Amino acid sequence: MTVLDDFSEITRRDEPLAPFTWLKVGGPAQMLIEPRNLDEFRAVVVRCHENGIPVRMLGSGSNILVRDEGVPGVVIRLSHPAFAEVSVQGNIVKAGAGALLSHVVSQSVEAGLAGLEALVGIPGTIGGALKGNSGSRGGEIGEHVKHVSVMTAHGEIFDRQEDELSFAYRFSSLNELAIVSAEFELKPDNPDEIAQRMKKTWVMKKAAQPMSFQSAGCIFKNPRGQSAGALIEKAGLKGTKVGKCEISDRHANFIVTEPGAKSSEVLTLIDLVKTKVAERDGVDLELEIQVW
Ligand SMILES: Cc1cc2nc3c(=O)[nH]c(=O)nc-3n(C[C@H](O)[C@H](O)[C@H](O)COP(=O)(O)OP(=O)(O)OC[C@H]3O[C@@H](n4cnc5c(N)ncnc54)[C@H](O)[C@@H]3O)c2cc1C
Repeated sequence: MTVLDDFSEITRRDEPLAPFTWLKVGGPAQMLIEPRNLDEFRAVVVRCHENGIPVRMLGSGSNILVRDEGVPGVVIRLSHPAFAEVSVQGNIVKAGAGALLSHVVSQSVEAGLAGLEALVGIPGTIGGALKGNSGSRGGEIGEHVKHVSVMTAHGEIFDRQEDELSFAYRFSSLNELAIVSAEFELKPDNPDEIAQRMKKTWVMKKAAQPMSFQSAGCIFKNPRGQSAGALIEKAGLKGTKVGKCEISDRHANFIVTEPGAKSSEVLTLIDLVKTKVAERDGVDLELEIQVW
């Protein structure tokens, strides 16, 4: 008997997390739970809180490196369709935290609503995108937020309005346990022009990034006024390999992995980059990815 037995239908124990991440490395979650609706999600969170069990939220795993030893406690994925609903009413787009950002972008563009097209090609869910204020040179998701429904670690659910939230480069003030859903306010525009802008961003992204490889996107944040990729390239690290992991020769701020790679190999490359860039340019690179 354990305190989470009531949720056995939606719980997998010692579940490898690598397949749920884009880097495809790392160990298991002690418990991976996929609730079927909001009440069940809340009940899991409350039970974990009452019993001091740590909880983490996993989206599409496109910005996470899981350590080889795995993750204690509970990892929750909002993978059920109940969390992936997307609807458009006038210039307001509503989306569940489990909805794919790509679906939300395409539905907005189809409805002739501008703003989110700058996010084309960014993998992941609405929850992950809001947590890290995902974006590109053309804009960030936080610019379009009207309000966000969140759940605290105690299981309390409430709305946070646009004026109580702050977003900055790869940062949001959304620090509750979970993002549940969000509303975005977009601007009506000519659908052909939005689609053209989206296509241009997509072509540029595809040309610059190793999209077809296993990666977690940019490993490091760009230091103010500088490019992390350029600093890593100047340090002569493009193409450097540790085991089955490599600093991409396409984009130096990407680490790509091959099947059989280990999380420890990615961490060794990360340390190497930090050390070499600090030695050469005196810059202390900060991680953009989350290490679990
Ligand atoms: C090829 C590639 C290209 C990329 N390009 C870009 C880019 O151009 N711009 C950019 O900004 N990013 C980029 N990324 C990084 C990544 O796609 C984004 O950070 C994405 O928004 C992460 O979403 P996710 O669902 O995968 O989140 P995950 O990686 O699963 O999680 C990321 C963080 O969000 C938290 N989280 C996830 N869901 C929730 C939730 N419901 N509630 C609370 N917290 C939650 C997690 O706990 C974790 O801290 C790229 C990644 C890849 C692999």
